[in-house]
Amino acid sequence: MRYQPVIGLEIHAELLTNSKVFCTCQNEFGGSENTRVCPRCSGLPGTLPLLNQGAVRLAAKAGFALDCTVNNYSAFDRKNYFYPDLPKAYQITQFDHPICTGGYITVTGGKDIRINHIHIEEDAGKLVHDDYEGISMADYNRCGVPLIEIVTEPDFRSIEEVQDFVEKLALRLKYAGVCDAKMEQGSMRVDVNISIMPVGSTEFGTRAELKNLNSLKAIGRAIEYEINRQAEILDNGGTVIQETRRYNDNHGDTKALRSKEDAHDYRYFPEPDILQVNFTDEMLDEIKAKLPEMPHKRLARYTVEYGLSEVDAKILVNQKRVSDFFDESLKVYNNPKSVANFIIVELLRRVNLGEVSMDSLPFEADAFAKLVEMADTDKVSKNDAKKILREMISSGKSPEEIAKEKGMLIVNDMAKVAEVIDSVLKANETAAQQYRNGETKVFGFLMGQCSKQLKGACTPKIIK
Ligand code: ADP
Ligand code: ZN
Ligand code: MG
Repeated sequence: MRYQPVIGLEIHAELLTNSKVFCTCQNEFGGSENTRVCPRCSGLPGTLPLLNQGAVRLAAKAGFALDCTVNNYSAFDRKNYFYPDLPKAYQITQFDHPICTGGYITVTGGKDIRINHIHIEEDAGKLVHDDYEGISMADYNRCGVPLIEIVTEPDFRSIEEVQDFVEKLALRLKYAGVCDAKMEQGSMRVDVNISIMPVGSTEFGTRAELKNLNSLKAIGRAIEYEINRQAEILDNGGTVIQETRRYNDNHGDTKALRSKEDAHDYRYFPEPDILQVNFTDEMLDEIKAKLPEMPHKRLARYTVEYGLSEVDAKILVNQKRVSDFFDESLKVYNNPKSVANFIIVELLRRVNLGEVSMDSLPFEADAFAKLVEMADTDKVSKNDAKKILREMISSGKSPEEIAKEKGMLIVNDMAKVAEVIDSVLKANETAAQQYRNGETKVFGFLMGQCSKQLKGACTPKIIK
């Protein structure tokens, strides 16, 4: 390839508030069209917006999760444009004074992708086009859903870096409880700005903005298509024009949507109906303190401190619930490798089989940790430990209780073991004599007799 792609992202993430950003309508995905609307979010004249403080706090939290500077002062602006999904004909957003600036995520290869800023804005409604009837319908349920827009610097140079960033970003937002980051449902939407320049050049080319990318795969395919499209233009002596293009996943191509608007086209001006946001340092500290340990820090702790493999550590970290469960288990039985192994191999297998979900486990981490410890210290056999886990899942009983009930407890009572061995030898004198005469293959039979009588109350190692 003679061209180097240069990529920057603009990511919209819906905030997990109960209500919308400027009214008290419910903020919830789906539902019948136009059932979650009120005069404010449907833009009726004379209504005034009322800022949802929870949304502002979540936006600040997102900033801390991404190592941004969260600004004490931020303010809202009006972005004016007409489109049927925006009944007010302007969007309330932040332009000159966004809530967060700076920040970064380290992607594969150890490179830092810088975040330019994060601003708060309101989502628009959804247009449903019925080509058959030749009509378009507007659903305003999404109107006024609080969003943050995360804008990166044009620091990406490959598809892998973009995909890694998006994955890590989604995980951090989920950990922070800011956004559920479901790309397929549109609660996190990624727009890709992409240009190309000759390899070795330092002057960026003209970019196109790609919209409608709802999976990591789609992002990869769209970028690939766009690199080739722009390369062909340049190869033929043409110039790339700055525009917004829509990606079509069925065709695997991008089509021009509209030429790129500049800021002055929107007639931005300070929103007169909303107070500016002023955070004290104490308020910001309080928000920051509520942030859980971020996934990249957990990953480092699991690999460096606990010696887990990168692969295993990632499996645990990729779902906060699993990672939390692991950490809670360690408080009771501090053997990271063993606990991690039992979670990954046994517990997650049951989850993947659909027998139980991590959100509805009928037992706590301490009971699980106890079970792993029992197996590690030969209180129960490894095989019985798996059976006990299944029983814990179906009955919610403690591992000790189940082991006792099912006679799975290995007591290793030496007096009892000696007594059983004596009686077995006496009852099987012929076999005992054969062994003494050097016929060692009868040992297994004698072992079996002992195990049978001890009913698993003792490990084979001890009987031997
Ligand atoms: P505008 O204000 O015109 O929207 P921005 O500077 O805000 O432009 O950039 C929007 C997005 O485009 C950012 O994610 C940025 O990283 C990216 N970007 C800017 N210039 C380029 C370029 N030459 N090639 C690729 N991406 C770019
Ligand atoms: Zn409303
Ligand atoms: Mg911009």
